[in-house]
Formats: sequence, C-alpha cells, structure tokens
Amino acid sequence: MSNPKRKIVIIGGGISGLTAAWKLSQDTKYHVTVLESSNRFGGCIQTEIIGKYLVENGPNGFLVNQPQVWNLIHEVGLEKDLVPGSRLAGKNRFLWKNSKFQKLPGSVLGFLFNPILSVSGRIRVLCEPLVPSKRDENDESIRAFALRRLGREASDTLLDPFVSGIHAGDPETLSSLAGFPRLTVLEKRFGSIFLGLLRGGLGKAKLTKGCQNPNLSRIWSLKHGLGQLINRLESGPFTKKTNCLVHRVQPQTNGTWSVELNSESLYADALVLACPPKATSGILKTMDPEAAGLFSRIPANTLAVVVFAFGKNQVRHPMDGFGYLIPSHENRDILGVQWCSSIYPGRAPKDKVLLRVLVGGMRRPDLVQLPIAHLERLVFENVARDLNISGQPEWVHTKIWNPAIPQYEVGHLDLVKKIRDVESRWGTLFCIGNGIGGISLNDCVRQAEECVQRIDAMPFNYQ
Ligand SMILES: Cc1cc2nc3c(=O)[nH]c(=O)nc-3n(C[C@H](O)[C@H](O)[C@H](O)COP(=O)(O)OP(=O)(O)OC[C@H]3O[C@@H](n4cnc5c(N)ncnc54)[C@H](O)[C@@H]3O)c2cc1C
Repeated sequence: MSNPKRKIVIIGGGISGLTAAWKLSQDTKYHVTVLESSNRFGGCIQTEIIGKYLVENGPNGFLVNQPQVWNLIHEVGLEKDLVPGSRLAGKNRFLWKNSKFQKLPGSVLGFLFNPILSVSGRIRVLCEPLVPSKRDENDESIRAFALRRLGREASDTLLDPFVSGIHAGDPETLSSLAGFPRLTVLEKRFGSIFLGLLRGGLGKAKLTKGCQNPNLSRIWSLKHGLGQLINRLESGPFTKKTNCLVHRVQPQTNGTWSVELNSESLYADALVLACPPKATSGILKTMDPEAAGLFSRIPANTLAVVVFAFGKNQVRHPMDGFGYLIPSHENRDILGVQWCSSIYPGRAPKDKVLLRVLVGGMRRPDLVQLPIAHLERLVFENVARDLNISGQPEWVHTKIWNPAIPQYEVGHLDLVKKIRDVESRWGTLFCIGNGIGGISLNDCVRQAEECVQRIDAMPFNYQ
C-alpha cells in the first residue's frame, strides 16, 4: 500500500514560508498548507501600484553576492523579468555629512583619495591589516568590531549609516557574528578585512541558474516589483489561507501536531514556523514555555517608509545614484533616502521622480509613533531641504512596519543554537525566517531551502 501524503503546515506566508511551500509542493509526497494571519501573502514584501507609480513598501531589491533569490527567480520562471538597478545607482551612493552630500568610494584606491574621512581617519583604516585578530570566539557588538579594526572615525562615519541602511539598528547592541558574518569571517580566516577582500575571501555566489554574470555591485528586482515573486510563489500547488491567525500548536501523542486556529484545528505531520519571533513565541507559549522564551528574546524595531512623488522640475538635485544614508552623529530625523526612480526603470512616469525615506528604527523609534500627517510633514521638510525641492509633493504615502526588522543582539547565535536544540527535541518542528538565520531576502530563501532538505531527510512514522 502506498504511503499517504505527508501533511506539512507552514505558519507565516512571507518569503520564507512561501519559498518552503513552493519547494516542498514540487514533491507529490507532501500536502502543504500555508496559514497567513494577514489578508495578503508576502509579509515584508509589499509592492503597491499608486497611479502610474510602482512603490515598494518593504524591500527594494536583492543582491547577487549570494545566489538564493537569483536562483529562485529562475526556478519559478521569472528570469525574463529580472531588472538590474541602474549603472548610476550601482556607482553613486552618498552619505550626508557635514550638511552636504559626499560620494562613497567605490574601491580601495578610491577610498585613499576620498575626503569622506580625514587624513588620519584614512590612515587608521589603512592600518587595519596590522591590527591583531581577535583571539577568542566570543561575540561582540558590530561597533566594538569596527572600533577595533577600523578606528573610531570610520566606525562613526561609515559603519553606523551602513547599519542603519540594512538593519535600522543600533551598532552598540547588534551582534557582529550574527549580523555581519561576512565581515567577521574575513578577520577569522585572513586576519584582516582588507587582506581577505583582496584575496577574494568572500568567494563568488554560485548562480546555478541562468548563464549571465550579473553585476555584483548592483541591486536587482523584477519588472513588476518584488510582489511579482510573491504572486508566483503563491500560485504554487499548495493549500493557502489568509486571515488565518494561528493561536497555538499542540503536539499529539504520535508525534504529529494540532494547529489551532479561531474556529478549527488542523492536523500536521510536520510544522514550519515562518513568522516573526514575537508571533512564534506566542504560538509556542503553552506547549514549550522554554522555546517561547528564546523567541521572546529576539527584539524587532519599528520603521516607517515614507514615499513621495514629485515632478522632475521640482527637484534641483539630479538624484543621480542610489540615494543617501545619514550617520547618527548628524542628528537628523531620517535614516536614509532611496531615489527609487533613479534605481529602476519604470517606477515613475518620465517627467516625475519617486523617492522613499526610512525613518525610525532603533535610532528614532519615537518618530514612528507620531500621527501620520505630522510624520509626513517632518520627513518632507527634511528631504525638501536636502534635495532642494520646491512646491508640494504630488502625493505622499506611508507604511508603518511593526515589527519591522528583527535585531540580532550580541549572543544571538547562542539563542539560535538553543532554538536548534528545541527543534531536535520535537523532531518535527522547524523554525525559519528573518528572526533567526539572517534578515536579507537571500538569507530567508536559504533558510527555507535548508528546512526543505531537513524535512526531506526526516523519517516519517506512519502508524
Ligand atoms: C522596510 C524594509 C525594507 C527592507 N529592505 C530589504 C532589501 O532591500 N533587501 C533585502 O534583502 N531585505 C530587505 N528587508 C528584509 C526582508 O524584507 C525581510 O527580512 C524578509 O522579507 C522577511 O521574510 P520572512 O518571510 O522571514 O518574514 P515576514 O515577511 O515577516 O513574514 C512573516 C509572515 O508571518 C505572518 N504571521 C505572523 N504571525 C502569524 C500567526 N500567528 N499566524 C499566521 N501567520 C502569522 C505575518 O503576517 C507575515 O506575513 C527589508 C525589510 C523591511 C521591513
């Protein structure tokens, strides 16, 4: 007699959960169900059409220094719609420093002649290969790591806005090992970030799909935005339910699970938890308080993404690049600005510009609490001054993310280890998503792929 299908329930329909669902459902031995609490799939990925504009409320693209999203897009047949960020966006990234734009260097040589750091700051950075590497394996904050290796000026001027741009986090509390493994591995393997980079220490991404050689310095997206990837994943051969908040899960005596929803419960042979850490903590609370406690120790920030459309003739600044980031010591209300219509084609009509501003994060959580109209006015005043904008925006649109991005604090890898122990204890429980193994879209897809491999390797016990 043939085995019945293995029932896999995935809780959370962001990119992590949907990728796992897509991949598992390619194998007919699984029956996969994705449960999503909100009224739409995609989680942080949210593409919106506003008039003739294409707006990303969440991630604006992905990098190809890691292969996962690139390969996934090929796997689901969307490769023809891949769009690279523009050449200018790849080349020109700015910092707002001392009340003006300063272009970030694109190479080590460029760095030597770039006045973004003082001469002594640059000399200190160039001494990085001489700094002894850390002897112990203990975690430290990314700020402590940067102070040690690059000195105070580079840490405050370069690292701090970089951390805001990616994590919207606090460099004093974020873990160097969990949040920035590509930097720490260079110190560990080569004794120096610079020497490691020069020797190609980060390796090349294995882009197994498509034979192109995409430009590594550029960001990538899809013609119709990242929502296009979500729509495609969502169309996979699995059962999906939105408006479906999972309250808790209960282990059954035969190793299976009962998933408790508002008015019904579902049976599962294996469970994949792909929701934010706080939600996971709530779901696990009654069945495994210790596991719930681990997830509750992973905080997340709040963020506002404020998007503006202007006529091109209103903006004096050429917006000839990706956008700009702002170091904390500039004491500004905004974290950074992305010039969306300069990054990808087709995001705004030809005679218009589209830009989005990131506000809040760990630096200014208070701003995300402001009434929306107040927040939008404040943000408008900031960008109007920076970019020399006259008149009012054609429209403004704000998305508040709460929770936004999980913050991997010092010691995060110990938490992850304990979470893996919990998974082993239960055997048929798998935890993935941006709360655990990396926040980038590539990291989320990688975790989903690893989870599928672990489920494939699982001996199912049919009684
Ligand atoms: C503003 C912003 C900009 C970003 N920019 C980039 C970028 O440019 N590039 C990049 O690589 N990354 C970026 N990121 C990070 C990246 O987008 C996220 O880390 C990633 O999308 C997270 O995917 P996920 O599936 O793990 O989690 P999520 O997208 O958070 O999905 C989890 C899902 O679980 C659902 N859920 C929660 N509780 C329950 C429950 N009890 N029952 C059922 N469902 C539940 C939620 O509704 C949600 O849909 C950005 C993030 C944000 C917020």
